[in-house]
Amino acid sequence: MTEPASLLADVQDRIARAAGIAGRKAGEVTLIAVSKTHPAERIAPLIAAGQRVFGENRVQEAEAKWPALREAHGPIALHLVGQLQSNKAEDAVTLFDCIHSLDRPSLVTALARAMDKAGRQVPCFVQVNVGEEEQKGGCALADLPALLTQARDAQIPLAGLMGVPPLGVEPTPYFALLDKLAADHGLAGRSMGMSDDFETAIQLGATHVRVGSALFGARAAATPKWGTLTKGWKPEGM
Ligand SMILES: *Cc1c(COP(=O)(O)O)cnc(C)c1O
Repeated sequence: MTEPASLLADVQDRIARAAGIAGRKAGEVTLIAVSKTHPAERIAPLIAAGQRVFGENRVQEAEAKWPALREAHGPIALHLVGQLQSNKAEDAVTLFDCIHSLDRPSLVTALARAMDKAGRQVPCFVQVNVGEEEQKGGCALADLPALLTQARDAQIPLAGLMGVPPLGVEPTPYFALLDKLAADHGLAGRSMGMSDDFETAIQLGATHVRVGSALFGARAAATPKWGTLTKGWKPEGM
């Protein structure tokens, strides 16, 4: 297996080149190392290689892994990149430094209350269902203005917008759409781009890329949802 340090250096290099092509600085792009499903032993070498920003998609898994890692390695910024249930809002606000999946009114209410209770302001990206896909997380395009207003009224610190383009199609238009929506709403952050497409996302304005398999190798088993989607999946009309 390739050394974590060299995988990290390779991804950092690709980020810098993609930023350069777009006339941007590599420092404008935050690399979030998405460590979901990977055990602490796989994560520690990446921390040792200098990575300090990580992403997880499940509150419970993160709670099991990260307190000990933080204890051993010092401050790590932890980002939640997966769907969040309202009843986990308090746990999420305690553990995470940033949440990328604010996508509905009930979660605005739950997060505002949790931040109030914890006395801790956690920046949130509003997740947008850019492909208007039925099963996908994220708020509908039509609901975005009202959700942003509600979040601002509730004094949730807004980091920007997050989106995941549909699987298996050219992602460029979806990144461009997210970039435009963020600009229209005066939001600085664009959380977009994963292992397969982060360079394209950077050229279209990504400020946060969420990279898992390019840093850790393939995950052992796809979660049922993604498995169902990818298995036998074909583009429309083929
Ligand atoms: C798993 C995950 C990623 C990372 O995916 P890779 O393709 O492994 O880079 C990014 N964003 C979200 C929301 C994820 O769930």
